[in-house]
Amino acid sequence: MPLIIVTGFPTSGKSTRAKQLYDYLAGRTADSKHRLHLVSDDSLSIPRTVYDLAAVPAHTRSANASEKDARASLYGAVKRVLSDRDIVILDGLNYIKGWRYQLHCEAKAVRTPSCVLQIGCTPDRARQVNQARLDRRAAAAPDGSPEEPYEQGNWDNLVFRYEEPNPMTRWDSPLFTLIWEDDEAQATRTFAALWDAIAGDGRKVVRPNQ
Ligand code: ADP
Repeated sequence: MPLIIVTGFPTSGKSTRAKQLYDYLAGRTADSKHRLHLVSDDSLSIPRTVYDLAAVPAHTRSANASEKDARASLYGAVKRVLSDRDIVILDGLNYIKGWRYQLHCEAKAVRTPSCVLQIGCTPDRARQVNQARLDRRAAAAPDGSPEEPYEQGNWDNLVFRYEEPNPMTRWDSPLFTLIWEDDEAQATRTFAALWDAIAGDGRKVVRPNQ
């Protein structure tokens, strides 16, 4: 069963949509033998600081070790459960196209489909969410919680580094999109189309050498 790669700007609503998708799929798979998994930075206790390049010297930034380690943990967590009977939702930034390609190949290796769910949100809206979290951090949310904000420079840099999914590429397709304003009915329609593409009648047969 498939791998669903969620992607979007930091604080754009990815976890919110990932949970909605999880609940939707839980309904569709309740009476079947499929297992459902939600893997995220939060589920693996990966802090936002791993993406922060501020502490990394400019000439070694492409080798940011903490982010590489985080990706290795996420990759391991996906690989452990991904199979033809398991649906895995990977909730995260997933902003590097080479990384999405790697995940797509991993799914292909176990002969299961993958798809991308992009969470569309204007940078201004997402920045407001992060700012609100920064404002109340001192009072309420300790680091490591789902409400953990990104430091402003880290947030700006992630938006700058974000590599948009391209549905013309194998690894970013099929590509589904939900925007902030989409209501429950629209989200349900998108989840239904996603289900059909990866698990329903529209599912393509996956061959490792394709
Ligand atoms: P991310 O996982 O991208 O960091 P979250 O899903 O944690 O973002 O969402 C950030 C905040 O925005 C949360 O407080 C959430 O309740 C709110 N939020 C997310 N998506 C929406 C939406 N579509 N409409 C209204 N509020 C939303």
